[in-house]
Amino acid sequence: MTLSYQTRRVVETAIAKRAEKPKKQEIYVPGTNCQIKPQVPLAHLTSLRVGGPAEWHVAPRTLQELQASLGWARSEGLPVTMVGAGSNVLASDRGLPGLTICTRYMRYAEFDPTLSQVKTAAGQSLVRLAWKAAERGWEGIEWAVGIPGTVGGAVVMNAGAHGACTADILVEAKVLSPLGVLKTLSPEDLGYSYRTSILQGSDLWVVEATFQLRPGADSTKVKAVTEAQLERRRSTQPYHLPSCGSVFRNPLGDRGAGWLIEQTGLKGYQIGGARVSELHANFIVNCGGATAEDIFRLIHYVRDKVQNRWSIALEPEVRILGEFPDL
Ligand SMILES: Cc1cc2nc3c(=O)[nH]c(=O)nc-3n(C[C@H](O)[C@H](O)[C@H](O)COP(=O)(O)OP(=O)(O)OC[C@H]3O[C@@H](n4cnc5c(N)ncnc54)[C@H](O)[C@@H]3O)c2cc1C
Repeated sequence: MTLSYQTRRVVETAIAKRAEKPKKQEIYVPGTNCQIKPQVPLAHLTSLRVGGPAEWHVAPRTLQELQASLGWARSEGLPVTMVGAGSNVLASDRGLPGLTICTRYMRYAEFDPTLSQVKTAAGQSLVRLAWKAAERGWEGIEWAVGIPGTVGGAVVMNAGAHGACTADILVEAKVLSPLGVLKTLSPEDLGYSYRTSILQGSDLWVVEATFQLRPGADSTKVKAVTEAQLERRRSTQPYHLPSCGSVFRNPLGDRGAGWLIEQTGLKGYQIGGARVSELHANFIVNCGGATAEDIFRLIHYVRDKVQNRWSIALEPEVRILGEFPDL
């Protein structure tokens, strides 16, 4: 088939235009060695393993790199999303506009025996922190060993387990305001209640947290308690499949969200690649090839069924990032 001259010109112009369109390239955060990368899949950054591309992504290692990254986003007029380990977020298949900042390489944990406190960076892994404390014979954070998040995420979510939570041991958190100003907030300032804080949905970024612990115990004993907590979690929760932990907050009253979902007959219920776990009904697992929309639809389905059966409105604990269909 031969194309007319005019058609050929149209096709050639379109090809030339596409070639001309500047492809987004990696750039350096001004004044640092830290790279800002375009189009990074959020599926690689979240424990549910779903989500489209972050328009821009950066993983600072220091407070200075974080401040410079925020400065860059400000100068480009871009919205900012911060994630830690991504273990409590559902990111849209359409991705996220602006700059996604991942804190997981901002790590340190400084134990101060005089004050019995540990000062940690936002990206410090909670699991590693629990083990570090146990190895030193410091008690008070054994409960965190099964929570695969960062300190920053825990401060925002008031993460907790086995009857203890972040608010119980937090002394203070350092946060950055949108204009890059550092502030120190107390647990009272953070308005803590069950799995919530005023930081959720705010534009304050946690950069450091200090916890009060109890040094001086036998490290063998603390390690044994920590190991037992982890074992208990492994045997009752589906750690072998991608998830975000408990999807819903437990409602007030004796009946937990998992019990309500199980009694509604939803264990094993599946939409696309997303399934209500058979091991723990408050977990939705990605059993292979799930999309964020599958998970979102399943969350709504479960919520509606529980509402119809028990007249209880379950509230998602997982943070929803980006655009989803109006259900
Ligand atoms: C297998 C499994 C088990 C789990 N078990 C538990 C449990 O027992 N108890 C529990 O409480 N949770 C549990 N979770 C959920 C999750 O691990 C916690 O909520 C954790 O604290 C989230 O930390 P993160 O770093 O992954 O935060 P992300 O998921 O990355 O972020 C959570 C929210 O915090 C914001 N955020 C993250 N870092 C910062 C920061 N530095 N500054 C400002 N905002 C920030 C994000 O924007 C998002 O809104 C579990 C998850 C999984 C996958």
